[in-house]
Order: sequence, then C-alpha cells, then structure tokens
Amino acid sequence: MSKTIAINAGSSSLKFTLYEMPSEEEIASGIIERVGLKDSVFTTKYNGEKYKVVKDINNHEIAIQMVLDKLIELKVIENYEEITGVGHRVVAGGEIFKDSALITDEVITQIENLAEFAPLHNPANATGIKAFKKLLPTITSVAVFDTSFHAAMPKENYLYSIPMSYYEDFSARKYGAHGTSHKYVSERAAEMLGKPLEDLKLITCHLGNGGSITAVEGGKSVDTSMGFTPLAGITMGTRSGDIDASILPFLMKKLGLSDINEMIYILNNKSGLLGLSDISSDMRDVEEAAEAGNEQAQTALDIFYNRVQKYIGQYFALLNGADAIVFTAGIGENSPETRQIIIDGINWFGAEIDEEANKVRGKERIISTPDSKVKVLLIPTDEEIVIARDVERLRK
Ligand code: ADP
Repeated sequence: MSKTIAINAGSSSLKFTLYEMPSEEEIASGIIERVGLKDSVFTTKYNGEKYKVVKDINNHEIAIQMVLDKLIELKVIENYEEITGVGHRVVAGGEIFKDSALITDEVITQIENLAEFAPLHNPANATGIKAFKKLLPTITSVAVFDTSFHAAMPKENYLYSIPMSYYEDFSARKYGAHGTSHKYVSERAAEMLGKPLEDLKLITCHLGNGGSITAVEGGKSVDTSMGFTPLAGITMGTRSGDIDASILPFLMKKLGLSDINEMIYILNNKSGLLGLSDISSDMRDVEEAAEAGNEQAQTALDIFYNRVQKYIGQYFALLNGADAIVFTAGIGENSPETRQIIIDGINWFGAEIDEEANKVRGKERIISTPDSKVKVLLIPTDEEIVIARDVERLRK
C-alpha cells in the first residue's frame, strides 16, 4: 500500500488529491487559491470535513509545504515518506510527450521549453514540479500531459491547411487539450456499455468552463475540437472557440489595438458565453437570465448548443457513425437542459434522451432510451485518478 498525490498547479492556484493506491481510495483533497497574492485561501477536505485557512502564501513551494504539514496535522499521514508517488498535471506536451513521463531534470527543461505552446500554464506546472521535488526528492514523480491522449490523431486531423514547412519547422499544428478527461470517460464508457474499448466509436463532450469535443475510436483520439491552444473549438465560458482569423486585424483596427496579444486576450477572456451574454461566463447565470426572459442570454445559449451540435455532427461523419455520446465536466454533468437540447437537435443520428434518466446531476448513468441506437452517457470526469494511475503505471 502506498499513497500517491495528484497535483494540478496553476499560475495562482494549487489543487491536490491524495489517494491510497492501488485501491484508488481518495483520502483527502484540497485547493490553495491566490498563491503569490494577499489572503491566499487554503481549503482541505478530509473525512467529510472542510478545513479552511486564510493567510498569505507567497509561492508554490510554501503552498506544497503547507499541504504536507496539513496532512500531518490532520493525521492523514504520519510523515512525508508515506507519500511514495506524485503525479503532476502538465498542460502542453507538444510533440515530445506522447505519453506520461517520469520526471527528470531533462523533462523539467522540456516542459519549460514548451511554454511557447501554453504560456500561462506550463511555467506554473514546472514550478509545482520543482517545488515538490525540493521537498520530496526521492519519490516517484510523473508528469501527465493534457495533450498526450491526442498524440494518436492522424496527420489529416492535426495539420492545418497552411504551408507544410510551418509544421515541419515550427511544430505548428493541432494539439488539443483535456486529454486526461477524454481518456477517463472513454474508458468508463466502455465499462458502462460492457464492450471492449477497442470496438467502440465514441464522441466525448467535455463541457466545463473550457470545453472540447473528441472523436474517439478504439480508445484513441482521432480528432478533437481544441487546436494549437485551447482557444479553438466550441463556444466556452470566456473563449470564442473557432473564428475566422481575418476578423482579428479588422477588429484591431476598429478597436485601436496594435498588439495582437490584446486581441488574443479578448478572445480568451472576454468572449464565449461571457462576451455573448454580457452577463457571465458561468452557465448557471446565463441559464437563469435566459429563463427570466433575457434574449441576449438565450442567444448565447443557442450559440453554445449549436457549436456543440456541429462538432458532434462532424465527428459522426468523421467516425462514420458512433456507438455513444458522452457528456462530462461542469456543464455536461450538471445541466440536464443542455444535454436534452443538444441531443434533441441531432436525433436524426439515432440518439434519443430518456427524459427521466436525464434529470440526474453529477451521477454516472446511461441517459438515452433503451431503444436509442446511439447511447448517451453522463460520466463525471476524474482527471486526478488518471494522474494517480499513471504514477503507478510508470513506477519503477
Ligand atoms: P473548469 O473548466 O473550470 O474545470 P467545470 O468543469 O467546473 O469548469 O465547469 C464549470 C461550468 O459548469 C460553469 O459554466 C458552471 O456554470 C457549469 N455548471 C456547474 N453546475 C451547473 C449546473 N447545476 N447547471 C448548469 N451548469 C452548471
């Protein structure tokens, strides 16, 4: 028996989940928000209780030290050595990391060098890795990449129709994201359907604040809606999703912007549900406003549904049919309306929602009618357990 911790270090946050392995029992979890800012908030969940501390936490190393000390204080562990493995979520793995990797100094440098592909995330991920390495230098330490699951995509799906040399010289291509989530729900879907994953064609819809849709065949990602970065694809909380690049210089001129990064910032942070509704990036707020008769909020919702439907349709064509559609992440797990509207609009493909079964929130379930040719599944995602499993898989 050993304890393994999954770490997700963002630029100002750090999330952790501690597991007993190989039983995969979740022992404790928590989050530190506002790392590096005033009044950082450290919340730990253990034994059904929540423990909250507010104090200044200046950097990730201090944050990790606090996590470990808290685990000792709560008697979750007696000493640091009880934790024998750590898995770190890393956003961009580029073309280098087609699978999770045991962390070495070289791997850390490669993760840092990939910051070009994820400027906000990879440096923060690397900081988390280094901080942990300093405190627990000898334990099995693994990096798990959001992009690895999509490494199986064929060329015709990951290449953009731009001069080939841009790919050959600069690795400019589609990488996708949320791979850990798409992988987890695909594997669960096979178990729920009682069929080997190798025999299944799935369309997995990760609809959270960020969102992506993936065509999965035989357990492998064939195509995905996010692109070179997570900006592409469907309408998201604050991201625009797919857009004609020519609109950028046009808008920059109109808005008096001279730096392309300002425009990209708008597409990443001021667009999507937030930009369309002028209300919120949060689906619950937009749904509530639409319900209360706000037409702009309704338009934002209609665009969201429409983009998801179009991707699902695309992937039906790409896979030449699908056995199941899977909904996951915040919206996918918790908004029955979203699932119903999306599936009702594409029932020509042979998917039919069971209204009663679909009323559930956040519980694993088949939500299509028994006769539905294409099954529809609700599967709460669990990226952390994939990370913990990969630590065990790569443990020497
Ligand atoms: P993140 O990408 O930040 O991990 P989540 O997967 O937690 O995001 O998803 C957040 C989204 O889920 C938000 O838009 C939120 O409104 C939505 N959501 C959560 N609960 C509900 C609910 N009960 N009904 C509709 N949407 C919900």
